[in-house]
Amino acid sequence: MDSTAWHTIPTDELFEKLESSADGLDQEAAKQRVERFGANELKGEEGHGLLAHIIEQLKSPLIYLLFAAAIVSLVAGKYIDSAVIAAVVVLNTILGVAQQWRAEKALEALRGLSAPRARVLRNGSIHEVAATKVVPGDVLVLGRGDRVAADARMLSASGLMVDESSLTGESEPVAKHPGDIEKDATLADRTNMVFMSTLVTDGRGRAMVTATGMDTAIGEIAGEVHSAEREQTPLQRRLGHLSIYIGGAAILLALGVFGLGWLRGYELVEMILYSVAVAVSAIPEGLPAVISVTLALGVRRMADRNAVIRRLPAVETLGSTTVICSDKTGTITKNQMTTVRVWAGGHMYEVEGKGYSPAGDIRPLEEGEVENREDLEFLMRIGALNNDADLAEDEDTGAWQVKGTPTEGALLSAAAKVGVDYEKLQEEYPREADIPFSSKRQYMATLHEFPEDDQSLLLVKGAPERILEFCSHILVNGESVEIDEDWKARLEEINHDMAGDGLRVVAGAWRAFEPGKDGVSKEDVRQGLTLAGFWGIMDPPRESAIQAIEDAHRAGIRVIMLTGDHASTARAIAYKTGIGEEQERVITGKAVESMSDEELDKSVRESNVYARVSPQHKLRIMKALQAQGEIVAMTGDGVNDAPTLKNAGIGVAMGQTGSEVAREASDMVLTDDNFATILSAVEEGRTIFNNLRRVVFFLLTTNLGEIITLAAALVLGMPLPVTAVMILWINLITDGVCTVPLGIEPRHEDVLSAKPRPPKEGILDMRTLRRILLLAPVMAVGVLAMYKYASHNGEEYAMTIAFTTLAAFQWFQAFNARSCCRSIFSVGLFGNKWLLAGVGAALVLQLGTVYLELGRTIFGTVALSAGDWFLCVLAGSSILVVDEILKAFRVHGRSG
Ligand code: ADP
Ligand code: MG
Repeated sequence: MDSTAWHTIPTDELFEKLESSADGLDQEAAKQRVERFGANELKGEEGHGLLAHIIEQLKSPLIYLLFAAAIVSLVAGKYIDSAVIAAVVVLNTILGVAQQWRAEKALEALRGLSAPRARVLRNGSIHEVAATKVVPGDVLVLGRGDRVAADARMLSASGLMVDESSLTGESEPVAKHPGDIEKDATLADRTNMVFMSTLVTDGRGRAMVTATGMDTAIGEIAGEVHSAEREQTPLQRRLGHLSIYIGGAAILLALGVFGLGWLRGYELVEMILYSVAVAVSAIPEGLPAVISVTLALGVRRMADRNAVIRRLPAVETLGSTTVICSDKTGTITKNQMTTVRVWAGGHMYEVEGKGYSPAGDIRPLEEGEVENREDLEFLMRIGALNNDADLAEDEDTGAWQVKGTPTEGALLSAAAKVGVDYEKLQEEYPREADIPFSSKRQYMATLHEFPEDDQSLLLVKGAPERILEFCSHILVNGESVEIDEDWKARLEEINHDMAGDGLRVVAGAWRAFEPGKDGVSKEDVRQGLTLAGFWGIMDPPRESAIQAIEDAHRAGIRVIMLTGDHASTARAIAYKTGIGEEQERVITGKAVESMSDEELDKSVRESNVYARVSPQHKLRIMKALQAQGEIVAMTGDGVNDAPTLKNAGIGVAMGQTGSEVAREASDMVLTDDNFATILSAVEEGRTIFNNLRRVVFFLLTTNLGEIITLAAALVLGMPLPVTAVMILWINLITDGVCTVPLGIEPRHEDVLSAKPRPPKEGILDMRTLRRILLLAPVMAVGVLAMYKYASHNGEEYAMTIAFTTLAAFQWFQAFNARSCCRSIFSVGLFGNKWLLAGVGAALVLQLGTVYLELGRTIFGTVALSAGDWFLCVLAGSSILVVDEILKAFRVHGRSG
């Protein structure tokens, strides 16, 4: 197909060429076309293969060292040592590759979860599909905040504006509408086409896909797209730096050991091997792989709890979050809207019935009957016509469900309760033009033709204060009455009272025009409206959010609510959920606007509830919080929220109601839109950080312990208690099987009792460092003492005892590492079954080193008695005893 001519042909030819219609394709045809045209994606670089992973693993200084050691021992004729070192390299590489691979797979699966989506018509009804599954002939359904999924020709449009800067560089949004355009129009002038990767900033429309994937305009321009570098977290980067220092220290230590040994008259080759062993001890070789696995498995756990991480660094930031700024509607509340009150024509009505079901009565709240219900019915008709939602009864459960926004669903079911058939009405008086709802405008307007009354009616609904601004009259008993000061005060009070009960209030109004009016402008709406009444809609808080808000406060995290609703509604919900006091001072968006930066700084320190806020206010509030050093998690769902989400410490987008653009700008997506999920993510974020700290603590303590043991022996003039190969074994095998289990230590129930971690605090904080320095010497003392004690029985026996003791120390240290500050017995000895398995495996392997013929040959060990084992394990347990005592005296602090 000629890819350039799509903008020139008439619509029927378009349908013919693409073998489709305004109703779109059917599912079967769409499926076949995916096969024929391929997935709708821009080709990126291939992912990392297995070989690349292996090379990555081999490219480490540690491996070079080990290779050098293997060659030295080979040359010196120490074939066994050389073979052991080679085996260690192979094992280490396999372990590392397996871990990285696993991490990679887990992250890939997650990327799938947050992949772009698109709405298309299939068989005439709207379906949400993965953007990759969009095919030529599909009809795209476009709305505010959508990312256009493919190149497409406009079929219909209403106020559709598209930001094409990613394609043409033009920063002003372009208006799009159907129609034919001459052949030589440039890309930027093809206003009857929309293009892949551009952004819908306003309005809505439908367009038929003409090209997908690399055949699109952006595909042709971009050619090969290079996928972004895999992002490292700040922590990974900092640990990278740390390893450089540790590497330097390792070389110095190794040289020191070499020098000392040489002075003491040890054999040259032997000392080279020892030096290598020391260097290998010092370098926390398993760390990068363990970190990847810990992060990857951690974010998978988050996904299981409905929080999909889009950018890995967010995981760390989550643990330091000090303030959560959350939307109200749908996040803290259920977004199950039910109209419970209506005010019209001077009367307040009570609406019965549950959910979206059209069953229920509407009756006046005050005594007696209202004679004239016309005003009420008129308001209900406005709600039915000025509406994009639809209600449907679930065939299986019989429950009524809303398609579209819940607020509008609530208006439809209320209309049905006074006998208005909204479907029939919408058919009879079709919409001629409209201005869609946006949080910024706070209203929606539609234009309809009423031939029998010989007029066009502009119907408007929206936030009451906003609508009242535009109203000059009010409908009472079928008459239009001017709104004087009295009426104004009365209407404000009614609005205030309804909102004070926690109801979301929507006002309905209209304006008549000469028949045949085409198009509506914002100017048409802004004056001369007549008010028809108010709907009071209930949206109950989520129970889980109430619990989560309590948890957040316990965790030292402030919760701030931002909403587009009225201040009184906001206050009522804030009080019900524990965010604010009963008399909480609510700050409105208008007030925020009039505040100076200093005033706002003061306000954000004190106020937890903000009402009638627009995305611009949100951004200012967030910046003020950040200026005070807060780490802010901020929710958002609309197009205009994107800058705020990008700048937030954690930008949180809504998976269900959020726009594609908000999702793209975010660090994390809530698949259930639930506030409680943010807190689950914080909890997991803290757990991941603690687990990384556990691994680092474990590795550094045991490594330091080994080095002190050797150094002390050399300084004291003792024989070296263990061989170089034994040290390699302990380092790479015994330690290796404990690190990954520590990295996936299950969440402790008290993670949310601690205060947020200061963002600058690294893994290796003072407390952890002190603990390492206190515990490492215990290992050295234990091993040397056991060696001394056993040395009357010959060198081989003494070395075997020292080796076994050193191994036992690691096992107990692994249990110490599970909690920094709480007794392991109160945390639960069996709480981490992977660690039990890891230590079990280490124990069995250790038995092999003394009881198997092969083990004895490799390590030069002798068989030990049960009594010997008992003593070694007892000595090893001393590190647990010491740490328990330190914990009991709170030497390491209280929490974490
Ligand atoms: P929130 O932050 O609670 O989601 P919104 O910006 O969606 O707030 O809504 C703000 C106000 O706009 C509401 O209080 C309501 O009066 C009005 N409103 C909400 N949805 C619609 C709609 N679809 N059409 C007209 N008005 C609406
Ligand atoms: Mg909303």
